[in-house]
Amino acid sequence: MQAVVYRGVNDLRVETVDVPRIRSGEILVRVAACGVCPTDIKKIQQGTVPAPRIFGHETSGTIVQVGATTRGFNVGDRVGLHHHVPCMDCHFCRHRAFAQCETYKRTGITAGFEPAGGGYAEYVRVMPFCLPGVVRIPRSNSFLEGALLEPVNTILKAIRQLPLLPDDIVLVAGQGPIGLLFTRLLSLQGIRVIATDLLPNRRKLARTWGAWKSLDAARPDLIEELRRLSSKRGVDAAVIAVPSDAVVAQAQAALRGGGSTLLFAHTVRGKTSPVDLGVVCVDEKSLTGSYSSDFTLQREVARLVFRRQLDVRPLVTHRFPLAETAAAIALSSRPTPDSLKILVEHTPATAERDAS
Ligand SMILES: [Zn+2]
Ligand SMILES: [Zn+2]
Repeated sequence: MQAVVYRGVNDLRVETVDVPRIRSGEILVRVAACGVCPTDIKKIQQGTVPAPRIFGHETSGTIVQVGATTRGFNVGDRVGLHHHVPCMDCHFCRHRAFAQCETYKRTGITAGFEPAGGGYAEYVRVMPFCLPGVVRIPRSNSFLEGALLEPVNTILKAIRQLPLLPDDIVLVAGQGPIGLLFTRLLSLQGIRVIATDLLPNRRKLARTWGAWKSLDAARPDLIEELRRLSSKRGVDAAVIAVPSDAVVAQAQAALRGGGSTLLFAHTVRGKTSPVDLGVVCVDEKSLTGSYSSDFTLQREVARLVFRRQLDVRPLVTHRFPLAETAAAIALSSRPTPDSLKILVEHTPATAERDAS
């Protein structure tokens, strides 16, 4: 099969590799679509994990083979995959810190080499501990929607960490694909979202995704304006969907006492930033983070996406064939004004060949 193999920093090669062989209890999925995710881009551009690997973890496709002891799945099922599933039994899981669980940290979906998601390949093997996270895609929904369950899950998980009441005011900084999903999910819950971005058309888009107000992130009076919009009190919470320390400082300044700033895009360790710890202690402005998904929210996520209460389809602006995955990643890492979520898809030729 064709696969896009990571061979080193910024080195992705289209190679022919063996179709993964499944063991009993597993399933083999022919990949239909895989979303390009910033966490993969980080690994590819910064070489944070050893090569070779086949990345891609926002995957959907069709089951083409089931193992002898696999229960609950059939050949032909269209499915969305979930590459991290916690054990639900360890110390971390009892504290619902699923992303810190050892089982969760193991990647259970692979197209070969060290398991790394494998969505940038024609077929992936799903190991038994990941099967509880496999969701069937309804007939009326697309592979695109199946592939986007994972990013939506990570956002719902983050929102659940914020102590919010209906009608609260939340700043969502950054209106890329992740920021727009925050804007929509928060507004669905009756939260008034103030969306900020540097790009005018993203600010406009934020309004169609449910933002109450949208503001230019570069305006010099941004903090005052945020306070003015929130009855001089300050916003109840801020979601930071851009990896900028300056934006975090702004958010902390615009927050009301007892509010929370949630970091979602600061995914690289080892960089420090000055923080006024007195503001955290005396003003009780908490600084928190959220990473990755919560498997227990998967049903709710599937309901939101498949019933199109959260219609993710307009989020995808560009689609690339598998052989052009490197171009998809390049575009995603340097977004243009009109690019949002980018998808790697299988070409019709591949689908036809498989069908014959
Ligand atoms: Zn992702
Ligand atoms: Zn666990």
